[in-house]
Amino acid sequence: MLEVQNLTKDYENKPLLKGVSFEVANGELVCLLGSSGSGKSTILRIIAGLEEPESGAVLWQGRDLRDVPTHKRGFGLMFQDYALFPHKSVAQNIAFGLQMQGLNEEEISGRVKEALESIRMQSFADRPVTELSGGEQQRVALARALAPSPRLLMLDEPLGALDHTLRTQLIQELRAILHQSQIPVIYVTHDREEAFGLADRLVILHDGVILQEGSPEELFEQPATAWVAEFLGLGNLVAGVVTQAEPLMIKTGFTELTLPNLPIEYNPGQECRLLLRPEDVLIGAQHSARENQFECIVRDSLFMGEYHQLELLCGETTLLARSQTPAEIGSKLVVSWPAEKIRVFPGL
Ligand code: ADP
Ligand code: MG
Repeated sequence: MLEVQNLTKDYENKPLLKGVSFEVANGELVCLLGSSGSGKSTILRIIAGLEEPESGAVLWQGRDLRDVPTHKRGFGLMFQDYALFPHKSVAQNIAFGLQMQGLNEEEISGRVKEALESIRMQSFADRPVTELSGGEQQRVALARALAPSPRLLMLDEPLGALDHTLRTQLIQELRAILHQSQIPVIYVTHDREEAFGLADRLVILHDGVILQEGSPEELFEQPATAWVAEFLGLGNLVAGVVTQAEPLMIKTGFTELTLPNLPIEYNPGQECRLLLRPEDVLIGAQHSARENQFECIVRDSLFMGEYHQLELLCGETTLLARSQTPAEIGSKLVVSWPAEKIRVFPGL
């Protein structure tokens, strides 16, 4: 449906977007995830036609939108500060875009009713929006964006202004509403929890390019770079130097690790980063693990509900590990990471 091809954009002679390409299929919910300032909002403004790229194209069903003005693109855009009209009621807010489309009164009231049902706020129609909670206002803003039936809906950090508890609660609700609408969605956020909770597909923007895209599961299992692994909070990232190519051995600040043979070739002396996931740790020497076993000191042991999070001091490196049992702070602990569970990324 939507194709974004090789967009570039400079601000003040500094490249912000260096060739951004991705697609959104029919009915798909794509999360565009990137740090603050990475150019996410700029991409949405270019897709909406509010801003022009230096080069590259935006296509809808194969057609280049270069000469199509914003209001003819049929795309909906909801910003973080989704400012509802304070002096209008819920229904009047939702009706606004429909009036702009020139629909008649009957059509408008039908669509407003549908929109209110989709956010399960039928009984709120006549309430002034100033009397709503933050979460309710957010849902009304979403209904307002959905009511004109855009061909594509773009949401720019819509939950950014809400507190964490409310956000967590709204993510599932939002996912249900958006899927039910069957409208393709680009959802922009810098929050990985939000992105993982919502997306059919994740697109990761960093340093002006798309570093990786895939389902939440794919990204979780196979982060393409150390940056992605770190950004997604997948675990401990440790610097190392290759000491032997076959079998692959990598020396870190606290131990020398053995790794499975990998498709990429590594050479002695090469610097790399390793991902040691907290959930992959084996605790205690009783696992008869011969390889990748080392001693550390328990710095902290925190009950997380489903597990205990251990903070381990290994040499001068701090590693997080998950344990089914608590550990005594200050005690020594032998841990190991199975070779086949460790991921290696070339470079530092
Ligand atoms: P994000 O939405 O990922 O936080 P933005 O797309 O808003 O990032 O902007 C990225 C950077 O581009 C900003 O930090 C700013 O420096 C620059 N920028 C964005 N819009 C403009 C503009 N209209 N004029 C000058 N610089 C801009
Ligand atoms: Mg932004």
